Amino acid sequence: MGNILYLVIPCYNEEEALPATSARLREKMHSLISETKIDERSRVIFVNDGSKDKTWDLIEELHQEDKLFGGINLSRNRGHQNALLAGLLTVRKYADMVISMDADLQDDIDAVDEMIDKYKKGIDIVYGVRSSRDKDTFFKKATAEGYYKMMNHLGGDMVFNHADYRLMSKRAIDGLAQYGEVNLFLRGIVPMIGYPTDVVYYERGKRVAGESKYPFGRMLSLAVEGITSLSTKPIRMITFLGFFIFLVSIGMLIYSFVRHFMGATIVGWTTLMVSVWAIGGLILLSLGVVGEYIGKIYLETKARPRFIIEQFINEEN
Ligand code: UDP
Ligand code: MG
Repeated sequence: MGNILYLVIPCYNEEEALPATSARLREKMHSLISETKIDERSRVIFVNDGSKDKTWDLIEELHQEDKLFGGINLSRNRGHQNALLAGLLTVRKYADMVISMDADLQDDIDAVDEMIDKYKKGIDIVYGVRSSRDKDTFFKKATAEGYYKMMNHLGGDMVFNHADYRLMSKRAIDGLAQYGEVNLFLRGIVPMIGYPTDVVYYERGKRVAGESKYPFGRMLSLAVEGITSLSTKPIRMITFLGFFIFLVSIGMLIYSFVRHFMGATIVGWTTLMVSVWAIGGLILLSLGVVGEYIGKIYLETKARPRFIIEQFINEEN
């Protein structure tokens, strides 16, 4: 098992954060190399996600100064998840293990040691998990934790309180590469790959510099993307709702007839009530059924790998 570590860091308008980030990462990588925990061919790769500021110039300068740093320049802004994927898929040729983290170093870089230790014990995917959310606002904490719970309810196998700070072995990334989907939510897909996994806990700090590149609107769209890219359960909910309303319509039918024969209704009320509920229920139910098929088509178009073989032992004669 090799020891070449690559750090992959997506950057969008991070000119304010990069100087501090690169200095701290250089220190960290040099100390890991001198402790012989990682190979000296290890690298830090910044992925410039179509920044509008001087981010790419800074990355080029860093590379000139120190070959520890490298960069990938995307043709335009494609969003955090795609930038991360571009980085992972590009460096897997050179690395034995890859750690992804944000450019603002909110994730404690000292958790890297523990991740590497676990990798050396044969773990393929090590998730960085936030031990607490003290520093988040109440709103962010509530929405984030509620979201993880809802996702797991919807059948997404997500790691609680884990963002995209994680170590992946080369073969885990090779597995990830087989997922050809365009609607990408890494946190949902990585647990599907399989292989031995573990978690490392860390405290999440404040941004080193600059502002969050994830305003509320973007966070919301990532959340919706997460659900719709992983799960077709919302469609099933329509089916259930339709079925439920249809049941209600039968109840209404009985109730309306009772009222009718008691003579307590005005003419036409019974038929109206029953048809409104029955038609509503039937429409929802049929929508759900159509949706079920669309959901199947959706999953098929993703062309996900049906399996990833970890080992094949066979005596050839
Ligand atoms: N990022 C990116 N492309 C984007 C938005 C963000 O590559 O379109 C990067 C950003 O530079 C940072 C990481 O994604 O390295 C996480 O963003 P940020 O720290 O702003 O999010 P927050 O921690 O506030 O949720
Ligand atoms: Mg951040």
